[in-house]
Formats: sequence, structure tokens, C-alpha cells
Amino acid sequence: MTTRDERLDVLSLTPGELDGALRMHFAAHGQPAYRVAQVASWIYEGGATRFVEMTDLPAREREALAEAFTLAEPASAEAARSVDGTVKHLWGLTDGELVESVLIPSGSRVTLCLSSQAGCAMGCTFCSTGWGGFRRQLTAGEIVSQYRASRRWAADQRWPPISNLVFMGMGEPLANRKALMTALTILNRGYEVGARRITVSTVGVVPGILELAKRPEQFRLAVSLHAPNSELRQELVPLEKRYPLPVLMDALRAFQRAGGRRLTFEYTMIAGINDALDLADGLADLALDVHAFVNLIPFNPIPDNNWTSSAPEHMRAFARRLEARGVTAAVREPRGRDIAAACGQLRVTYLRARRARTPAAPRAAARRS
Ligand code: SAH
Ligand code: SF4
Repeated sequence: MTTRDERLDVLSLTPGELDGALRMHFAAHGQPAYRVAQVASWIYEGGATRFVEMTDLPAREREALAEAFTLAEPASAEAARSVDGTVKHLWGLTDGELVESVLIPSGSRVTLCLSSQAGCAMGCTFCSTGWGGFRRQLTAGEIVSQYRASRRWAADQRWPPISNLVFMGMGEPLANRKALMTALTILNRGYEVGARRITVSTVGVVPGILELAKRPEQFRLAVSLHAPNSELRQELVPLEKRYPLPVLMDALRAFQRAGGRRLTFEYTMIAGINDALDLADGLADLALDVHAFVNLIPFNPIPDNNWTSSAPEHMRAFARRLEARGVTAAVREPRGRDIAAACGQLRVTYLRARRARTPAAPRAAARRS
């Protein structure tokens, strides 16, 4: 019989919680209070991955820390580098689940795209992660670890430091609210990533948007809209039935009222599905209502259906129609298409290859019929 690991995971603790836990630990060991700051500095600035690396602590104290706490990061299962410089990492979690993060260099900026869940329960019809189904929630530590490990990787490769974080990897961040909210605090206060450099992307989980609006930090919000009316949106985003557009817009107005916050609409453009030019007018009304910036994203083809992206010229025409109505819009470049196209695809590719290598693979990804 295995006993459960009762040790506290330091990577899942907010700086305040870490401070409290370390204070108690060192007091019980008759150690001076300054040990707390030493350990915190190793974790946040030093990026230590094991207590034994904390060389300004006595060896005995490092051992005692390892007995009381864990400091475990997911292992890198695979990395893939695109011709455009984008790098995807696939992380193997302790129970064998896989999640991915993506580093996107652009001039002097490096954006890191983070996953918040293994899989996703939202079932959006254009999304690979959606088709794979939900596996489990990530802990705050597993979210933060993607940042820590990517920061180390970027430094090893002599890249500029990571400047922006976006929760646009696998999963719906606001459906894993507790861990996400904790991870935001840790990234912002512990690792000192400015709130305005962190964007939470949601498909429209209204209670989560309202909770984010209440936070004092000015985290940015991206809303994956994809359609300007409920009828069409329901076909792409099943969550529309639970939180229909008028309810979502009310929440976004509350987010706006909270002040100083940047709101973006994400609109994935799928040929013949949601890209008719007159839909731009409805989208413009919604964007003007909440002062949202609009990002038009080319659809990345997925193995689960035969949809294709709108043509670049058509996307530009759609953007011009928005701009004619006074909306600021950008047409996004597709990045990293050669390494694993859409969100969730590196995991799918890896699992397929692993299944091919080991015929008795444990379980096939859940599929919707
Ligand atoms: N669940 C959150 C965040 C993860 S998805 C959300 O939906 O916002 C991140 C972004 O990738 C979303 O804007 C989503 O619409 C987009 N996306 C998913 N599948 C895509 C595809 N096949 N092509 C282009 N964009 C896609
Ligand atoms: Fe989940 Fe976002 Fe994909 Fe929808 S688009 S299935 S919410 S990850």
C-alpha cells in the first residue's frame, strides 16, 4: 500500500502562504528567521528545482526541507521548434497526463502560452483540445511550473526574458478558478510578472470573469467570441447555451467598470462558417460596447473536421469592415503551424506516436461522436 505524500508543494503556495509555512518550519527547527527569505529567493529568483541546490543553507536544513515540502516540476516529454521560431514544450505530469506550453518570440518580446487544464470540458467544435475531452485540473504549481521551466529553457538558449504570459494553451482557465487565481497571485507577486503582462483567455465563464473583475490587479482578459450572435455561437461554443451573449456582455461591462483593464475579443476565422462580412457589423457593435480590441485568428485545421481557415485577403476585408465602424482590429499571423498546428495538437501527435510505439497503450483519448 502506498501512503499519500503529505508534504506541502511549495510551487502551489502563494508568497504569503510560503512565508507562513517556512516561518513555522524554521522556528520548529530552531533556525533563524532569515532562512525564510533565503528559500523564497531560491524559488522565485533562483528558480531552484531541488532543495539540495540551496547552497547557502546548511546541508541538514536542506534535507529537513525536502522531508517537509516538495518542489517538483513536470518533466519535459518533448519539445518542437517551428521554422518561425515558436517552441512548444510538452510536459509530463506526475500521473502521466500531458500538457503543453508554447514560447512565441516576436522582436524583443517573448510570449509564453500556458495550459490551465489537462484537456478541456468545453467541447468547442473547432478546437483539438475540445475534441480530446477533459482529463483533470492542473494544480497552481503545475501552472507555475510551466513558467519556471520555460524561463529556464529560454535563459539556456540565450533568449530575451519572457515578457508576457497568456493562458491560451490547453484548457479553460476560468473553469479551474481556484488554481488559476492562486497561480496568478504567485506569478505576479512571487515571480514579479506584471499583471498587465498576463492575459487570461476565456470562452466566457461568467462567474470567473466577475471574480477576475473584483481582483485589484489589472490582469488582462481575452474573450473567445468567434460569433457575434447566440445562434451561430452555439454551434461553435457549447458554453453559449449556459452563458448566452447578453449575460456574457453584462459580465464584460462589469469587467470594464472595474477600470483600467484591457479587453480583447478573439475571433477564429473559419471559411464559410463565421466569416461572412456582414457578421463584422454585429461584432463591431459588441466590441464598441465594451471597448474591446479584436484579434482575428486564422483557423488552424484540426483532424476532427474538414474546416479550413478564411483566406488572408478575406480576413483583411473583415478587419477593414470592423475598422470602418471604429473598432481596432488585428489579423494575427499563424505561428508554429509546422510543429503542431492548433491548440492541443502537440499532445495529440505525441500520443499517436506513443501508441504506435506501444500497442497496449493505456487509454485512447475520449472522442465525442
Ligand atoms: N479555453 C480558453 C483558452 C484556451 S484556447 C479559450 O477558449 O479562450 C486559446 C485560443 O485558441 C482560443 O481563442 C481558441 O478559440 C483558439 N483556438 C482553439 N482551437 C483553434 C484552432 N483550431 N484554430 C485557431 N484557434 C483556435
Ligand atoms: Fe476549451 Fe478553449 Fe478549446 Fe474551447 S477553445 S475547447 S474552451 S480550450
